[in-house]
Amino acid sequence: MTLGTDIAKKLSEVVDTDIRIMHVCGTHEAAIAKYGVRSVLPPQMKIVMGPGCPVCITPQGEIDAACELAERGCIVCTYGDLLRVPGSKTSLEHVDGDVRIVQGITKAVEIARQNPEKEVVFISVGFETTVPTVAATLITNPSENFSILVSHRLVPPAMKWLMEQGEADLHGFILPGHVCAVMGYHEYEQFKVPQVVAGFEPEDILLSLLMLAEQIKNGEAKVENAYPRVVTYEGNVKAQNLMKEVFTPSDVEWRGFPVIPESGLALKPEFEAFDAQKKFDLVYEKITKKDGCICDRVLRGLADPSDCKLFGKACTPRVPVGPCMVSHEGACRIWHQYQQKR
Ligand code: SF4
Repeated sequence: MTLGTDIAKKLSEVVDTDIRIMHVCGTHEAAIAKYGVRSVLPPQMKIVMGPGCPVCITPQGEIDAACELAERGCIVCTYGDLLRVPGSKTSLEHVDGDVRIVQGITKAVEIARQNPEKEVVFISVGFETTVPTVAATLITNPSENFSILVSHRLVPPAMKWLMEQGEADLHGFILPGHVCAVMGYHEYEQFKVPQVVAGFEPEDILLSLLMLAEQIKNGEAKVENAYPRVVTYEGNVKAQNLMKEVFTPSDVEWRGFPVIPESGLALKPEFEAFDAQKKFDLVYEKITKKDGCICDRVLRGLADPSDCKLFGKACTPRVPVGPCMVSHEGACRIWHQYQQKR
């Protein structure tokens, strides 16, 4: 018997009531689908997806702003995942302009150095995991023709918002291992709900589910760590200090959500010269156009990708209608790739 089947057996002994667990990480969804984790769970246990894909939760207004920068003659540098995400009119893939795929901010800074006559903008998306590298780069004082479009989001404020709504009827959370590797898990103690930090092997995820099920059965609500080989309580304090040096929390909209207080990041005044939104007077429009896409409900744990009438028909990875079908961390794309069933 493998460790995974051992844990799955234990899980079926512990779970004796309906349980809905949310994860908030696209990499967790990919691992769950790839290894068939749902297929070994007791029938009363359901894992739902939350807003764990940074590309998927980037609002259309910010995609439109990135496209506008390309149309205005800037060199726009972006992660490949963002390229095909639809804005309200077009995407970075189809916009008429110079859009370049980069692995990260360092390459975008290099492009700015090589093209001093052009403005170069890096589309800076991602949760807490990607922020320290961006901060570390900005304190090295890149060239004046370089700036970033800040589209970072923070996980705990979104979880707080979801719990306040109570709409997804959740009994606990799998916490994101990558984010917690940077931030630790002390921030999550404010939430009085069972939570377990998980890694990305199937056994890691099953173990976190077992720990959650045991907490629920015992009437407990604490934060536990099932990923101690990578995550510590404090996290990477040096990386956190870098983030605090450059960024400050700000109120931002998430795609499918309203404005969530202090769930985003803004550059501190001393780094404002690198703020593309200010440099180019960009206004983010609030867009509500959906074209039948239910990504907003998928990102809030209210629907599965297969609940969408367009899933696998009008919407496929080749012709995506919504962002959840574009990104490798998007639930629809993952379910399509692994033929995931609920
Ligand atoms: Fe949106 Fe496509 Fe997913 Fe439907 S299948 S929710 S249209 S991304």
